[in-house]
Amino acid sequence: MTKVLQNVQMLNEQGELQTVNIAMAEGKITAIGQNIDVADAEIIEGNGLVIAPGFVDVHTHLREPGFEHKETIATGSASAAKGGFTTICAMPNTKPVPDSVENMQLINGLIKESAVIRVLPYGSLTRDISGEVRTNIEELKAHGAVAFSDDGVGIQLASTMYEQMKDAAQHDVVVVAHCEDNSLIYDGVMHEGKRNQELGLPGIPSICESVQIARDVLLAEAAGARYHVCHVSTKESVRAVRDAKAAGIRVTAEVCPHHLLLEEMDIPSDDANWKMNPPLRGADDKDSLHAAMMDGTIDCIATDHAPHTVEEKCCGMVGAPFGIVGFETAFPLLYTQFVETGKWTLKQLIDWMSVKAAQIFDLPYGTLEVGASADMILIDLNKEQTIDAEGFVSKGRNTPFNGWVAKGWPVLTIFEGNIVYQEAE
Ligand SMILES: [Zn+2]
Repeated sequence: MTKVLQNVQMLNEQGELQTVNIAMAEGKITAIGQNIDVADAEIIEGNGLVIAPGFVDVHTHLREPGFEHKETIATGSASAAKGGFTTICAMPNTKPVPDSVENMQLINGLIKESAVIRVLPYGSLTRDISGEVRTNIEELKAHGAVAFSDDGVGIQLASTMYEQMKDAAQHDVVVVAHCEDNSLIYDGVMHEGKRNQELGLPGIPSICESVQIARDVLLAEAAGARYHVCHVSTKESVRAVRDAKAAGIRVTAEVCPHHLLLEEMDIPSDDANWKMNPPLRGADDKDSLHAAMMDGTIDCIATDHAPHTVEEKCCGMVGAPFGIVGFETAFPLLYTQFVETGKWTLKQLIDWMSVKAAQIFDLPYGTLEVGASADMILIDLNKEQTIDAEGFVSKGRNTPFNGWVAKGWPVLTIFEGNIVYQEAE
C-alpha cells in the first residue's frame, strides 16, 4: 500500500525549504512533489515540519552480545530511532567479537531479531580485538561486515595495520581506526592539559592519538587503502588528516558531537559522565575541529554512542569505563548550538549526519530521492526541551548534557516506509 507523508518542508540543493509530499511504497520513496495523487493512499500528516533523510551513524556501540546490562540491539536501535537515525554501524567490541564467520553470523542473527532500524556490523581487524592475529577480511565482508575496525583500542603494531590495509584495499573495504598509542596513555582518564591538573587526575596527551594517525595515513598510502579516522579530537590530528588529504591519500574522518560542544575546562568535577575516549581536549583543539569541518578535512559527524551502567559511572573517573551515550541528544544539541547561532546551515548539519557519512562507506542511504529507501525523519525545529537522561530509551544514562535545554527534536522516524518512532502526544 502506498503511504503519503503530506505537507512537509524539504531542503533543496540550495538549502531552501520547500513544501512537498512524499509517497512511498514497498519500503522505497516513489514520488516527491507538490501534486501527488493521494487517492487510496494512507496519509501521514507532516504538519509543515522539516523532513530530513534518516541519519546515518557510522560509530556506535550496541553492547550485544556480551554486555546486555549496558545496552541491547533492541534498546540501542530504538534509542537511535528516537534520535532520528535509521542506519547505524555497530562497533565490534562485543563478546564474542565479530572476528570469524561464526561470530558474524551470530551477530547478524541478533540484529535480524531485534533491530528496529538498519544495523550494519563492523568486522574486527584482529582476533578478539587484541591486535595480534589478523582476521580474514574477505570472509567477513562476504558475511556482511560493513567495514573493519578494532574500535576501543588502537592497533599497536604497524605491520598488523599495514597487512590488514593491503587486504582491505584488495577487497575495497574501509579500514576504520580508533587511534591510540598504548605507550602514550599513561593511565590517563582525561586530557592532559590544565583541568586534569586542577582535578588531580592523570592525563592522556594529545600525541597519544595524533602520532598513530600520522603513522596510519602513511601506511594507507603505501597499501593503497581507504582509511577512516574515528573521533578526531586534537589539532595535531586535524593537521595530519588535512595534510594526508592534500597529498591524495584516501583518508576520511569523523568528529563526535561532544568534541565540538565541550572542552576540558567544562569538566565540572571528577565525574565519569565526562569521561570518554578520546577525552575532551583544549579550546584550541575544539576550534581546530570546527575549522576542519568547514574546509572538508572532517567529513561527517558520528556519535560514538557508548552506554554504560549507572554503577560503572558512579564513582569518579579513575575506575570508570570510557564513553557517553549520544543518539538521543546529537541533533538537538548541534542544531541549537551551531545552526540556531548561525555558525552552520541546517543543510550542513543534516548532510554531515546523513549523506556525508553514508558516502564514506558507499552506503546508498542518507538521501531523500525517488528510488531511495524510505528512511526519513520529521524534525520540529521549534520544539524546546530539557535533556533528561532518565527519559532516554537507551539503557545508558551516561551523558554530560543532562539538564541542557535544546531545540530541534526529531518527532517521527520512518524506516523502510514504516514508522519506528513517534513522539508521544
Ligand atoms: Zn573509539
